[in-house]
This record gives sequence, C-alpha cells and structure tokens, in this order.
Amino acid sequence: MNLSPAVRSLKPSATIAAAAKAKALKAQGVTVFDFTLGEPDFNTPEHVQEAARAAMKAGHTHYTASGGIPELKKAICAAYERDYGLKYEPAQVLVSNGAKHSIHNVLTSLCGPGDEVIIPAPYWVSYEALVELAGATPVIVPTTEASGFRLSGEDFERAITPRTKLLLLNSPCNPTGATYSAAALEALARVAQKKNVYVCSDEIYEKLLYTDEPFRSFATLLGGIADRTIIISGVSKAYAMTGWRIGWTLAPKELTSAMDSLQSQETSNPCSISQYAAVAALNGPQDCVETMRQEFARRRAYTLGRIRGLPGISLPDPGGAFYAFFNVSPYFGKPLGKGTVVSNSTDFCSALLEEAHVALVTGDAFGAPGYVRLSFATGMDVLQAGCDGLAAFLHV
Ligand SMILES: *Cc1c(COP(=O)(O)O)cnc(C)c1O
Repeated sequence: MNLSPAVRSLKPSATIAAAAKAKALKAQGVTVFDFTLGEPDFNTPEHVQEAARAAMKAGHTHYTASGGIPELKKAICAAYERDYGLKYEPAQVLVSNGAKHSIHNVLTSLCGPGDEVIIPAPYWVSYEALVELAGATPVIVPTTEASGFRLSGEDFERAITPRTKLLLLNSPCNPTGATYSAAALEALARVAQKKNVYVCSDEIYEKLLYTDEPFRSFATLLGGIADRTIIISGVSKAYAMTGWRIGWTLAPKELTSAMDSLQSQETSNPCSISQYAAVAALNGPQDCVETMRQEFARRRAYTLGRIRGLPGISLPDPGGAFYAFFNVSPYFGKPLGKGTVVSNSTDFCSALLEEAHVALVTGDAFGAPGYVRLSFATGMDVLQAGCDGLAAFLHV
C-alpha cells in the first residue's frame, strides 16, 4: 500500500515493542523477568477509583469541553500553586489523552518544516518520532555519563541555529533517571532567553525524586521564563494512572488556544471519567504518592547495589524516575549465556531475553548505543531473580 510520507518511516515505540516481546514469551508459559515496564506497577489509589465510579453514577459519561473540564483545569492550577508557587490560569491549561498526546499537541502547534528541535540524548523513545511527525527536524545533542547525562548550557547554546525553535527537556529523565539541579536548569533557561528558544519541559516524573533537592519546575527559574516554557505533566507516573490517559500542558494562552483547536478536531476531549478521577488525584490526600515513592526508593537502592556489583559496569545515581541505565558494552565480544557473542545492545537484549528470560530495553531506542534500560517498577522478588539471571548470563 502506498502509505503517507508521514507514517512510511515511522517505527513503533521501541519500549512497547520490547514489552510485547516479553509478553509473547510469557504467553508461551515461560517465566520472564520483565524490566521493560515504563509504568508504576501499583494499582491506582482507591479514592481515585471511587471518584471515577461516582462520576459514572453522576452521569459524567458524555463529551466534555475539548481541553478538559473546568474542575480539572482548576485543580491543576491549584496543584502548581501549592507545590511550586506557580500562578497559572485555566486558560493556560490543556488536558489531553496522556502526556504523550500533550507533547504531540505542542510539537504540531509550534513546529513545522524548517524548524529544529533540540533533544538531549539519551532521550525518551517518542521524542524523535513525534518531532518528525510534526515535519520538524530533531537535533540530537549527546550527553555523557561523566556529566550524569545532563545537557550543559554551553552544549545547548552550541546546538542552537537560526532555525532552532524548541528544546525538549526531561528531568527527571526517562531513560537515565538524571535530574538537573536548579543551577543547571537556570543555565539552560538563560540560554533559552538569550537565544529566543522555547523550552518544552517534560516533568512527568516530578513526584518521583530520590535527591535532597526539591523539584524545580522549569517555569519557576527566571523572571519571564514562563512565557517561553511549556510544562508537560500528568497523573500517569505520580498516581499510577497510566491507563486512564490524562496528561496536560501549562503554556502561554495563544499556544494553549491553538492546541485546543487541534485537539478538538483530532480527539474531541480526554475521557470524561478519567478527568474526574484526575481531579480526585490532585485534590485528594497526597500520601499515596509518597508511599509509592518510598517503595521505588527501596527497589532503586537494591537495583543499584546489584548492577554496580557486576564487574565493569558503572552507573551514575538516577536522581528520579524508576530506571537504571547502564553501559553493557564491556561485555560485547565475549561469550555470554550459552556462548553467544554480541556486538551491540539490541542483540544483547535479544540474547538475554531468549537465554535468561530477562527483559531489558536496548539503549539504541534512546539514542544511546551500548546501554540498556532496566525499569525497577516491579516487585522485589522479580528484581532479585532478574538480577541473578543477568549475572549468570554475564558469567559473573
Ligand atoms: C511515561 C512518559 C510520558 C507519557 O506519559 P502518559 O501521560 O502516560 O502519556 C511522557 N514522557 C516521559 C518521559 C515518560 O516516561
């Protein structure tokens, strides 16, 4: 079939593909230690589920305003004021079908052919594809393990050309877990202001931090920076609500209004019931977030200990999110598992899955050859057995 140029070269999400491969093996009855998950393994908190049931009973099962119900927009504004002292109006909020959809709205509404979007690597799988879908050009700027996978102000400035429209920033980062200090963020904000570049700050992991420094939203950094900042977040990661598909943008009004029009033509509105659930998540008790964070912290400590115990493997502290991202290239060219020799991360992950039934995601998917991503959003018993399996595969 003669497909459109936009989708002809589009590849499916590599993380979803990796999870599907693990699932297929499970379906054959094999016990798989699956670390591909990009979502909390906890159930959505009970009071949030209850709000959804109540919404259905109250008849909130119809189309809503395209950009979200006023209650949810208000709850989002209140949460940002409560948590970060940021003052946004409902007219600057757009609720979408997950943060991924929010990013798509931003790129489609702000960028087009001829525009460049700077993406620090390692980057979240979908960034590059979504920029290309918008017809714009992704400009990948590598960061190093030595810098903790952080983009410096100098590197950012060096990558800027007259065509640069936007920086796509993600702190805490998926896949590396890297977090930026306030000073490091300020350096980026100053460059953005000086060079007249917008910043799309994907803050979906804002509540999952393991550092002493509190989270700083990009919009709080410098006077006036909010005018060129688009905040992306949602309920998926903080409240274990990935399936509900609620994300949002906080952005200048003109952009918000354009994205609202786009969304009204493409998807009408995000799920009515999920929106009421999200109101309960934001306005309700927040201790569920801390309970989940503490459990992630426990698993993180265990995972880091095990991975750092593997000879030749090092990794910088992931300051947030729920991933360990490490370089397995010291094991390339050596017999692994049943004698298999690999020369890249993708083959490493395939052999590890087939021979040890341990599922990781290849760093190739994140613009980081030689690396793999392990999600510790899974039970302690699975972590233990999976790390044993990995060690045995490496013959250590
Ligand atoms: C999970 C994730 C998202 C998308 O979240 P949804 O709201 O479920 O669409 C966006 N950005 C990053 C970096 C993520 O890891």
